[in-house]
Amino acid sequence: MGFQDSRYLHQEVKGLIKFQMEMTEENSMKIKHCPNKSCEYHKNPIPKFYYKHGSYTTKRGIRTERFKCRGCGKTFAENINDNTYGQQKPDINRMLFHMLCSGMTLRRIARTLEVCPKTVQRRIDWLTPYCMERHVAFLEAVGDQLHWVQFDEMETCESTKLKPLSIPLIIHPKTQKILGFDVAAIGAKGHLAKTYNEVYQYPRINETRESFNRLFEFITRYCKNIKIIMTDQKPAYIKVVEKYFPEAEHVAILSRKKAEKKITEATAKEERETKEGKDKMFILNHFCARLRADIAALRRRTWSVCKKPSNLAQRLLIYTCYTNKTLDY
Ligand SMILES: [Zn+2]
Repeated sequence: MGFQDSRYLHQEVKGLIKFQMEMTEENSMKIKHCPNKSCEYHKNPIPKFYYKHGSYTTKRGIRTERFKCRGCGKTFAENINDNTYGQQKPDINRMLFHMLCSGMTLRRIARTLEVCPKTVQRRIDWLTPYCMERHVAFLEAVGDQLHWVQFDEMETCESTKLKPLSIPLIIHPKTQKILGFDVAAIGAKGHLAKTYNEVYQYPRINETRESFNRLFEFITRYCKNIKIIMTDQKPAYIKVVEKYFPEAEHVAILSRKKAEKKITEATAKEERETKEGKDKMFILNHFCARLRADIAALRRRTWSVCKKPSNLAQRLLIYTCYTNKTLDY
């Protein structure tokens, strides 16, 4: 049933969050007002303002009732208030959501679900606002209880290697939930920078600073009790952490490669004995590896890249919802 599928995204989240959209509570049969805006029953509906007016079966074999308004005489379907209203194949939504977060490309999803690739992109556009709503609800519910976060960036590209993108990411390491992310354009490095200048006439603008500000503003809005923030020793991180989390303790960790160079044999042994000694940002790095495996566009040496940074942001948001589904402390 199409209408049940839409519930999947809005179902109760286990643990601390009890997030329910209006749609879950409201049965679609309970039509509260007339959909016709010029009708008197649109604003002030009376009980039983509509009556049955036939039914039809959709292409997917779902029987749908139609009703008629007593005021204006307009007819409407029972699922008019559903968020899947107007979709010809609402039953694909659930599988599509899972496939998007399981390392499948858009074309492969389209082929598997036997729909057009355009449909997949349209459904992603349809899904995005619900995911955003749900992520905000997630942060509102648990944001104040989080004290320890990790922050780092990962790199990918849009359409070509000459146009790299940076994804600043904040996670809660204890539960491995994504709290926030952003997508920023950065300039190509090394010999690719030279090639970029030959191919493109316009310089590539580095958006890292703006994206850090956007991300940290978003996080500080919901997580007000952060006490420890772990990053590596990039100077830009120190500035942004000082600006947005002046009271939190900033733990800047040497990157693994640098640390291995510096560490003497004696300390190395000691470090190895502690669980997280070798790679203190292990959880975030592990998380990034998981992202690369689960989102097709983030894979290394791949051809299935996103054409626009906004599309990548959509995929990341959907993945955020997917991975934050349950909150187990
Ligand atoms: Zn009416």
